[in-house]
Amino acid sequence: MQPSETYRSGLEGTPILIADDSALSRRLLEAVLNKWGYSVIAVSDGATAWEILQRESAPRIAILDWMMPGLSGPEVCRLVRAQNRPHYTYIILLTARNEKDDLIAGMESGADDYLVKPFDNNELKVRLGPGRRIIQLQQELLVAQEQLREQATRDALTKLWNRHAIGEILARELARSQRENIPLGIMMADLDRFKLVNDTYGHIAGDIVLREVARRIAASIRAYDAAGRYGGEEFLLMLPGCDEEACLQTAERMREAIRQTPVRVGDLSLRVTASFGVTSLPRGTAAASETVIRVADEALYQAKQQGRNRCVQLPFAMYAAAPPSLL
Ligand SMILES: [Mg+2]
Repeated sequence: MQPSETYRSGLEGTPILIADDSALSRRLLEAVLNKWGYSVIAVSDGATAWEILQRESAPRIAILDWMMPGLSGPEVCRLVRAQNRPHYTYIILLTARNEKDDLIAGMESGADDYLVKPFDNNELKVRLGPGRRIIQLQQELLVAQEQLREQATRDALTKLWNRHAIGEILARELARSQRENIPLGIMMADLDRFKLVNDTYGHIAGDIVLREVARRIAASIRAYDAAGRYGGEEFLLMLPGCDEEACLQTAERMREAIRQTPVRVGDLSLRVTASFGVTSLPRGTAAASETVIRVADEALYQAKQQGRNRCVQLPFAMYAAAPPSLL
């Protein structure tokens, strides 16, 4: 089979939706589009077209007949445009009429282009060109946006949330746990004597250790938990729905995952441990981010004081009330 233009444009997986109540028209369109390498979904009415265009994996190009039973082409078009979706749908209206007023009304529904029936295949091919380009450009734009978002919210070394992002997640989770009346587990973790690793083996070894510890931390949490790099070797975690006991269990599991297996750095095997400060905001509690972090920090401080490589859990209510000077 000859590689078609579609294939070369990298859109070969992109199907085109055809909606036309005329079986003959559908068949002709489908045959020529298939010949050009597009895969085609053909339906005979507007309501089905609209149902398909709402799907997550909806075709990005749609050729809609103007007059159809149920929803007309322009009506489907209006519904598509009223949706707020990241992906653009390129819509070509098919019409047997050619009065100017009708065309203006059709284009005002948000259609990108129109074809007057009967059309020849070359005209259809030309009309599909801009559609393919727009879809492709938008695809590239979405990828670029995603990369930017990634760079803005992720810590470059560990790929966990960065400090800014984890702070925003904390504020959001505090509001959500109160709204949903669930507890919110908070954890502050810190590698023990990490400066020694950097001083003894160098900063590259230190980076490898940090990355590996972050990986073990990320592997120990659920999909809806959040882990961020809060400082140099300090991590902040949120566990929605976890009370103090559940939070402490997770921290213990993480501590063990870090302690148990040495981190490989070249030929070296480095034993690393971490200390954990744990607390949990009881259900229905309103608290500021600073207060929550202060309590978790105090728990972490006590874990360090008690000899490191351990988890200390503090009851939130008692410590949240105490002014910092008494801690
Ligand atoms: Mg029709």
